Amino acid sequence: MPEAKDFDILISGAGIAGATLASALSGQGLRIGLIEAQATANTPLPKGTSIQDFDARVSAITPKSSALLEQVGAWSSVMAYRACAYHHMTVWDAQGTGMIEFDRDDLGVGCLGHIVENRAITSALNAGLAERNDVTRFSPAELAGCTVDGTGAVTVSLVDGRSLRADLLVAADGAMSKVRELLNFQTREWSYGHKAIVTTVQTQKSHENTAWQRFLPSGPLAFLPLPSAENLHLCSVVWSQEEARADELMALSDREFSVEIASALEHRLGDVTECAQRWVFPLRQRHAVDYVQPGVALVADAAHTIHPLAGQGINLGLQDVAVLAQEILAAVEAGANPGSIEVLRRYQRQRKGENLAMMAAMDGFKRLFEQDALPLRWLRNAGMRGVGRIAPIKQLIMRQAMGL
Ligand SMILES: Cc1cc2nc3c(=O)[nH]c(=O)nc-3n(C[C@H](O)[C@H](O)[C@H](O)COP(=O)(O)OP(=O)(O)OC[C@H]3O[C@@H](n4cnc5c(N)ncnc54)[C@H](O)[C@@H]3O)c2cc1C
Repeated sequence: MPEAKDFDILISGAGIAGATLASALSGQGLRIGLIEAQATANTPLPKGTSIQDFDARVSAITPKSSALLEQVGAWSSVMAYRACAYHHMTVWDAQGTGMIEFDRDDLGVGCLGHIVENRAITSALNAGLAERNDVTRFSPAELAGCTVDGTGAVTVSLVDGRSLRADLLVAADGAMSKVRELLNFQTREWSYGHKAIVTTVQTQKSHENTAWQRFLPSGPLAFLPLPSAENLHLCSVVWSQEEARADELMALSDREFSVEIASALEHRLGDVTECAQRWVFPLRQRHAVDYVQPGVALVADAAHTIHPLAGQGINLGLQDVAVLAQEILAAVEAGANPGSIEVLRRYQRQRKGENLAMMAAMDGFKRLFEQDALPLRWLRNAGMRGVGRIAPIKQLIMRQAMGL
């Protein structure tokens, strides 16, 4: 007789993707186990009276993603804490006159999206999960091994020696996914040769609820608006730079860095008057050849990582989660095993093409803006101006970026 299973679904990783999946599957008669290496923070999130109170890791959440977070009961807590709606986007080329602007009025929507600190989302999701009795949380607990037997059941072992069995293991364990490595999922990946410097800055002028992005030959720079606390004008910045230049910028004092970054944005928001702690992330494009094996599925960063220039990473990941949850629930409703390869392939078919298309577009953008040759510079500047004048094309780009 086959060994009894402890859970129907095990999820490794309770970041935004894993915690959203657990929330979406909860309340449907499934036994769910959620394994997270880090301890859950029990302290309330900081109020935001100083620049240091903001999480350096933020995401531009599209309306489609906020709708999913709303559906799982987390979005109202995120909004009650803090998020900044952005109404406008200004994108321009450092080498020439090319510029394109997007505005909520072009689409007749309330906002183009929200800039949210990542921990605000995970904290809201975790608070909701703590009240569900069909989700058992293992944290801090690290997945150390996993095997799939002939019947398709998955056995997971934790670093502390515990062993858990389930019909399906979902890897939501991030870019360096342990599950992906243990089960030999192949990936196609390469380094962009860039690192992203991430921090929070205070600027002289208001950000005007605008996401600002300047394409420099050495990489894109984004100033993303944060909620204005105590009349501070705060932005989260992501500055993608060639590796050697990123190391130089990281070695500067806060004062020197503030001068450099204000100048890189052409002082559109005046001087940068303060800068919080800086973090640096190496940037790699990575895509799993297959997202699924019998009994196992990869989602979000475990399946794909993408250049942050268009802020699409977690938005793609949340769409993986939405589709996988839908396929799992449909299978269970039909009396099928949610870990069967037929069910999982339906998820893969719906997500792989869209993820690949977005990754290719971001890669193309990055390469195009790195080119110094005059004809290419002319082409991209003319292209930006041209697209800016053709309302239907502009709307199409915006709707795509917003996941509408
Ligand atoms: C500089 C930068 C800027 C970005 N900006 C944006 C943006 O504006 N918009 C956007 O959409 N995306 C953005 N992204 C991408 C976004 O941050 C990621 O796509 C997102 O955080 C991935 O979420 P995830 O839940 O898949 O993985 P993660 O957030 O990495 O979560 C994985 C979780 O798994 C846990 N874990 C790992 N290994 C184990 C193990 N063995 N056992 C148990 N638990 C484990 C980890 O502790 C972690 O909690 C950006 C990325 C970078 C680097």
